[in-house]
Amino acid sequence: MKTEVLPLDAASLERAALSLRAGEVAAFPTETVYGLGADALNAQAVGKIYAAKGRPADNPLIVHIAELGDLDKLITGADARARALMGAFWPGPLTLILPRGSRVPDVVSAGLDTVAVRMPSHPAALALIRAAGTPLAAPSANRSGRPSPTTAAHVLADMDGRVPLILDGGACSVGVESTVLDLTRGQAAILRPGGVTLEMLRTLLPEVRVDEAVLRPLAAGGEARSPGMKHRHYAPAARVIVVTGGGEARAAAIRGRYDAAALEGQRAVILCQAGHAALYGDRKAQVLGDGAGEMAANLFAALREADAQGMELILAEAIQTEGMGLALMNRLLRAADFEVAEAGGCQNSE
Ligand code: AMP
Ligand code: MG
Repeated sequence: MKTEVLPLDAASLERAALSLRAGEVAAFPTETVYGLGADALNAQAVGKIYAAKGRPADNPLIVHIAELGDLDKLITGADARARALMGAFWPGPLTLILPRGSRVPDVVSAGLDTVAVRMPSHPAALALIRAAGTPLAAPSANRSGRPSPTTAAHVLADMDGRVPLILDGGACSVGVESTVLDLTRGQAAILRPGGVTLEMLRTLLPEVRVDEAVLRPLAAGGEARSPGMKHRHYAPAARVIVVTGGGEARAAAIRGRYDAAALEGQRAVILCQAGHAALYGDRKAQVLGDGAGEMAANLFAALREADAQGMELILAEAIQTEGMGLALMNRLLRAADFEVAEAGGCQNSE
């Protein structure tokens, strides 16, 4: 299959919509990351998403809608909490887990009796859903396990020859995936932190809690409330170590590990916050940004760049888990397969 990258214009949107209506997949930009979409009500089309990504069949997809009216096709009902959250945060990077309606094929939700739904805010995503005339099931448009794509070039790097077309809408503004909030088991729980933060959700729903698996590996034998928690995620080819602790102690630990790796002939890079690069002297350091939001937006591109440069070790500064820091740490810890070094000693948190 030849993969075409199309500029974002009316003709391309129409082509992508036609293709989706015909049961094909198409990659498109959203404000979070690029998605790989298919008609959510067509089981065969959705099957092509799993095939193109190499995604495990037990990891369900998020269904994207453009109008609240589309909800009737997908869910059996939304309670007052769900309606309030939709009013406050849709369109935007918030996915709600709701009771699944009978028209949603099993393959979309991996056989669960719930379905994940969100209304993206990216104008191209909304236009595409409307033109396709159907909700789109769309996970991130990367090969399964790889960092999510935040540019069309990232999608092409993973999906060349595996999908017919990619709409190029430039870089994604949020740069990490949506917040996944489960509303189907009593107390609302964040299963995956993202662009709508815990603090934002608590303004409406003070009781929201964060699932334990967000910052810790799933306990052996533990039940994954979100099947995606079981799988390795966001992983570059390089070994990633998240270094905790603060100030000079952390910088010294990172320098020590970098120098030890360099002595062994390993190619290493440090991922750090703006203003910290000077702490690392002439070692190779990549500034992710100033503040958690900017750092999160640049993380996946930095992980992919490290791979492109043949890096073998990535030493990442940990950051506080407030605001977007929670999403950033969740992605970093998964990219590192939970390998954490505390300034002074190394520990795998498993
Ligand atoms: P992706 O779209 O690739 O970013 O992944 C979607 C995420 O949402 C994965 O972590 C899934 O496990 C999670 N998810 C999708 N549907 C459900 C559901 N019905 N219940 C719980 N988690 C879900
Ligand atoms: Mg994904």
